[in-house]
Amino acid sequence: YPRREMMDLITIDGRARGIICRNLTTGKLERHAAHAVVLATGGYGNVFYLSTNAMASNVTASWRAYKKGAGFANPCFVQIHPTCIPVHGDYQSKLTLMSESLRNDGRVWVPKKKNDTRPPAEIPEEDRDYYLERKYPSFGNLVPRDVASRNAKEVCDEGRGVGETGLAVYLDFSEVINRDGLETIMKKYGNLFHMYEKITASDPTKEPMKIYPAVHYTMGGLWVDYNLMSTIPGMFVLGEANFSDHGANRLGASALMQGLADGYFILPYTMGNYLAQAGSCDLSTGHKAYDIAEQAVNEKTAELLRHANSGKKGLQTVDHYHRELGALLWDYCGMARNKKGLEYALGKIPEIREEFKKNTLVPGSGEQLNQSLERAGRVSDFFEFAEIMVRDALAREESCGCHLREESQTEEHEAKRDDEHFSHVAVWEYHGEDREPVRHKEQLAFENVTPSQRSYK
Ligand SMILES: Cc1cc2nc3c(=O)[nH]c(=O)nc-3n(C[C@H](O)[C@H](O)[C@H](O)COP(=O)(O)OP(=O)(O)OC[C@H]3O[C@@H](n4cnc5c(N)ncnc54)[C@H](O)[C@@H]3O)c2cc1C
Repeated sequence: YPRREMMDLITIDGRARGIICRNLTTGKLERHAAHAVVLATGGYGNVFYLSTNAMASNVTASWRAYKKGAGFANPCFVQIHPTCIPVHGDYQSKLTLMSESLRNDGRVWVPKKKNDTRPPAEIPEEDRDYYLERKYPSFGNLVPRDVASRNAKEVCDEGRGVGETGLAVYLDFSEVINRDGLETIMKKYGNLFHMYEKITASDPTKEPMKIYPAVHYTMGGLWVDYNLMSTIPGMFVLGEANFSDHGANRLGASALMQGLADGYFILPYTMGNYLAQAGSCDLSTGHKAYDIAEQAVNEKTAELLRHANSGKKGLQTVDHYHRELGALLWDYCGMARNKKGLEYALGKIPEIREEFKKNTLVPGSGEQLNQSLERAGRVSDFFEFAEIMVRDALAREESCGCHLREESQTEEHEAKRDDEHFSHVAVWEYHGEDREPVRHKEQLAFENVTPSQRSYK
């Protein structure tokens, strides 16, 4: 069933029994009944509007399953990747990742002085700050993603960022080209250099790349047990959509391995076990649960299309509000978070959401291919989801992996964990439109390793 979007989960007698899909070409809703449901619908990084994710990545399937009773775990755990091409304008809708491997040979630096606008070639060695090598002598440019990202933010916040926006740092290959020769380096990174030059019109063999962190991966997701089953019996969640495996700090390359392990080694066995125990069930789609879910989807579609033919002036696009939400999250629930900022964001999200509901123009109809409508539905879910993400960040008063709470830092401004109070998975449970979600704790038990403060000095 290509070109279908899952709009809702059907639960009957507390078990997942099917889904409602929208046929994206015709707009028709379709009912699918099943003995069990598997979600493999990816991560929610696009809640930030700008990310390295595919444009169609979204939280809709997970969010609607959450509203049907699936627990959502650690939504504040978001990985921000340090080597992306910096944002260069408001019109941008996508960020490009430059591979991690570039930090094997590239040296990260910024000018020592603030607001130094000299071209990089005119900044002599003594005026450069190779801040990762200086601060983390044993790991240097290869510190983990969260540390590299936070440090880039820190130097830019100090006014030492480079490029037109000041929100970039250099990744410099001149030394390694001198050492190993251009040919060797082109063999290693030629494809990436080519891509970078196509996008930025700058040749990284002649002047340093400019990079800046961007949202890349979401470690949070629907809670699952070791069988990959969510808190709704019969609904399994695979890949980036679930919360498992990566804790608060996913390591590079592990996501694809997780996808393979989930789909190839785990689910084929655990699903059989579930089916054997759950027994057979009615696979017709006549149950009233389908009518109720379908009606809710239709009502939501009608609401989103409210202004379609109204001729009302002064309305905004879906992207306008998505961009606003993304900027808010990036500023207050991004690389570094603090109580005041998170509380501000929590107050601001419903305000922007109300504006979005009242003033968004979604043209066209629901009975046709309508990508504005698709986007509007996804953004509407992002608005709701953003609230538990911020709540989660607010409740976790420690720094943990990629989640840096500014109040919880060591004297050297490194992330400080608090295992005594926060060594748990936070699992959020939906309690209705106008009620606050409930935060449950799943205590973590370490049998073979002891968590300790990370140090890359
Ligand atoms: C630029 C980039 C580079 C990366 N590089 C690496 C790497 O080198 N190594 C590594 O391990 N990981 C890497 N990752 C991460 C990894 O690619 C992802 O975590 C992984 O692809 C997630 O797989 P998935 O199947 O869980 O989800 P996805 O690949 O995101 O697939 C989800 C699918 O579900 C569809 N979908 C979503 N919602 C609905 C709905 N409501 N109804 C129907 N369909 C829906 C989506 O359109 C999509 O096709 C990278 C990620 C990015 C963005």
